[in-house]
Amino acid sequence: MSLDNSGEIPIKYFVKTLAKLGIFLHNYATGESFTNDLWKSWGYTEEEMADQNWLDLLHPEDAARVGMSMKKITSGETDFFDEIYRIRTRGGEYRWLYSSGDFISREEDGSPALYMGADRDITDLKLYEMELSEALEKAEEKTLQTKALMEAGAALTSSLDLNKAIVMVLEKTRQVISYDSASVQLLEDDHLKILGAEGWPEDFPIMDHKILLKDKTPHKEILKSGRAAIVNDFSHYDKKYMDMMKDGIGSWMGIPLIADDRVMGLLSCNKIPPERFSEEDLNLATGIGGFIAIALRNALQHEQIKKLAITDSLTGLRTRRWFYEHGEQLLDLSVRYERKLAVMMLDLDYFKRVNDDFGHKAGDRVLVEVGKILLQNSRKSDLICRYGGEEFAMMLPETDSEGAETIAERIREGVEKLNVFDVSRPLTISIGISYSGSSGDESIDHLLDKADKALYMAKNRGRNCWISI
Ligand code: GH3
Ligand code: MG
Ligand code: MG
Repeated sequence: MSLDNSGEIPIKYFVKTLAKLGIFLHNYATGESFTNDLWKSWGYTEEEMADQNWLDLLHPEDAARVGMSMKKITSGETDFFDEIYRIRTRGGEYRWLYSSGDFISREEDGSPALYMGADRDITDLKLYEMELSEALEKAEEKTLQTKALMEAGAALTSSLDLNKAIVMVLEKTRQVISYDSASVQLLEDDHLKILGAEGWPEDFPIMDHKILLKDKTPHKEILKSGRAAIVNDFSHYDKKYMDMMKDGIGSWMGIPLIADDRVMGLLSCNKIPPERFSEEDLNLATGIGGFIAIALRNALQHEQIKKLAITDSLTGLRTRRWFYEHGEQLLDLSVRYERKLAVMMLDLDYFKRVNDDFGHKAGDRVLVEVGKILLQNSRKSDLICRYGGEEFAMMLPETDSEGAETIAERIREGVEKLNVFDVSRPLTISIGISYSGSSGDESIDHLLDKADKALYMAKNRGRNCWISI
């Protein structure tokens, strides 16, 4: 630093630096200004700035607020000006400015005289701040989306009640894709069956609704191509389908549900006009579709296994396991309400010979035919099962001995008349019947045991007959 002879620091050394630092002075009384370099760098001359028309250069969103602050400090209502705002440069772009200052002197009547302020260009800082908050917002959105997707996946993979799980998934999906209505549709033969839906009016019969694939719908194309798509123009689709959508569709999005390379159905989302789905929606929905497809496959496999466990593969009758489960419930009800109930054990006579004489395959065919006879001679409420081998069991609710014996006789006759092989020796069956008392100590095992004893007696009596005990 250089000092002059007087030993004082001459003001001229400061002036340049002050201007660079954004310091400025304005004398309201004389109209004189000491301007800073900032405004010069934006293309304004000293004369222009002295006019005090800088308020016209404010960004429209800042103008009112900054104008008000300026008024307050000029009038003396406040004693410090401190604002962040945007100013239009001569080139037309806006720069962010942090500006503060106050009146370092006033006239005797309090009117403004000398104002000293400091301006700082904070545009880069502001841009960085905006980028940061945008990134944060996006990250937060992504976190929410991921969370919703995870919850959707968990709901699907943990629930065995597929329909309920699907509705839950559709609700979660709505948190990340704003659709107006959506449904999950299972591909069955020539149609799609709606398994779960969200966003339709309460009274709209959407559940189990079937969308025929011969109709002209965008669904068919997606199933065929296996590719997700957004459709905004429906002009070439079936009017009947479009009429289904009460408020019309602005945008439709279809996601094929694919598991193990098999298209199992569709996730279908609709938006009411003028809303449209975006590519991002499509990507998100495809992710969710992956979950739904796996859950669909699991649920269908589960159904299949359940069916296998309760159905005898040869005769199509129920299995012994199923008979026990349902028989127990039926027996409980009968005992509680003191209703009559009959149990039958049925066993084909000399069935071994059928196999020996005609072969095992022929024996199988006989078993199928006998199963049909049992079904023909029973009511809907009766339980029938293939108990094992050539043995069958039946449980007849609301049936007394008279009723049970009538049915047993019909079955006996039916089997006797059965002429599978056109041979002189008829096929016959023996039947043992037992009844539940209302004592409450009956168990299904006990009843079957009793019926088995009766069956043994029937065999001993010479077969082709029934015994009721
Ligand atoms: P009974 O009059 O005393 O009942 O004589 P049965 O020959 O019917 O009785 P047994 O228990 O000695 O023989 C049952 C036969 O049933 C033996 C077995 O080969 C046959 N069988 C059991 N299950 C099946 C099946 O699924 N298919 C065929 N074809 N035969 C079966
Ligand atoms: Mg037998
Ligand atoms: Mg047997």
